[in-house]
Amino acid sequence: MDRKKYLVVGAGFSGAVIARKLAENGKNVLVIDKRSHIAGNCYTKRDANTNVMVHKYGPHIFNTNNKEVWEYVNSYGKLKPFKNKVIANTEKGVFSMPMNLLTINQFFKTKLKPSEVESFLKQKQKKKENPKDFEEQALAFLGEELYYNFFYGYTKKQWGCEPKELPASILKRLPIRFNYDDNYYNSKYQGIPENGYTEIIENILKHKNITIELGIVYNKSDNKSYEHVFYTGAIDSYLDYKFGRLGYRTVFFKEEIHDGDFQGNAVINYCEEDIPFTRVHEHKHFAPWENHEKTIVLTEFSKETVDKDEPYYPKRLKPDIAKLNSYVTYAESLEENVSFVGRLATYRYLDMEKVIKEALDYATYFLENKKENTIFKGAIFSNKI
Ligand SMILES: Cc1cc2nc3c(=O)[nH]c(=O)nc-3n(C[C@H](O)[C@H](O)[C@H](O)COP(=O)(O)OP(=O)(O)OC[C@H]3O[C@@H](n4cnc5c(N)ncnc54)[C@H](O)[C@@H]3O)c2cc1C
Repeated sequence: MDRKKYLVVGAGFSGAVIARKLAENGKNVLVIDKRSHIAGNCYTKRDANTNVMVHKYGPHIFNTNNKEVWEYVNSYGKLKPFKNKVIANTEKGVFSMPMNLLTINQFFKTKLKPSEVESFLKQKQKKKENPKDFEEQALAFLGEELYYNFFYGYTKKQWGCEPKELPASILKRLPIRFNYDDNYYNSKYQGIPENGYTEIIENILKHKNITIELGIVYNKSDNKSYEHVFYTGAIDSYLDYKFGRLGYRTVFFKEEIHDGDFQGNAVINYCEEDIPFTRVHEHKHFAPWENHEKTIVLTEFSKETVDKDEPYYPKRLKPDIAKLNSYVTYAESLEENVSFVGRLATYRYLDMEKVIKEALDYATYFLENKKENTIFKGAIFSNKI
């Protein structure tokens, strides 16, 4: 057993996966988190009033095509099959999302077959050679009616700006299915843990070489006490906002308890600009294998991240990317025993499967390349190996 201590800052999936891999390789690991609980943004807890499992920072559906990742999470807890079927509440009525043949046929009052959708949409699309922003890209894919009914208001509320100000890359793929498949994800493996994500992360962290301390804010001056530090917090915060704050959107929730079934589905998107919230989540529908008489409903609002707000979605606008490059260059120039891992430290939106895979690969890379009693100067960002 290596008595030198390794520090992992953050007890989300990134921190837990790294800590486990180090511990299994005989390293002595301390995991700290500033929150009073483990599991980061994937934290789930049963609501005391309804006994429904609530995803406290927003609903999480595990989905991946990666067998290794799927087997990894399943080895720490049971995932039950779950297909996310979203409903869009719009000015013109209630429709199925992601957009599929049912959405189109109901919206345009048509009876199109799969082979007819492409040419039908071609008449609607406002094609541009090189769409330069989100709006141009959406109009090129969908045309005006679908774009304004489903995307304009929702995007404006979610990102707090005109869709014209957002990069075209946000809408990479045509968000339309030419059949009646209304499953939100395309991934081969999809599910939700039977007993919540917290239990899975608790099991990952359950190892004799791992100690956990909660409610502790990381202090950089402690770095010297550790052989190496794995930091999964925000990169701009680590470097004391030296180049300014990176832009994030955050969300907050209004909670209500009702009897019975409130909205008949796990998620309903509200697409109209005048409705102040973006989505309503009814958490008992994320666990259809359970029965509950009461129901807990969370209405999601989106806003800019300021001061002590939790950073949720990286905006990655041009000025953010310029700042990020300055942070990365500066961090790489430091002679410090720190690695930056996970969604906040690398300033990317990452699904859980990506976070787990990257943490597994990074820990393997670290263990293979770290030389005893030297500062680790391999790639120090988990996305750079
Ligand atoms: C609303 C929402 C919905 C999502 N839905 C899905 C989904 O359906 N499916 C999916 O695959 N993914 C989803 N995700 C993504 C998922 O949440 C992330 O992939 C995952 O949480 C990333 O894990 P992480 O460990 O990198 O970061 P986090 O979970 O954020 O963990 C980082 C931890 O570090 C701690 N920390 C930060 N700074 C410090 C500090 N200075 N000192 C001490 N501790 C610190 C934080 O408290 C936090 O607990 C969703 C994300 C959001 C925001």
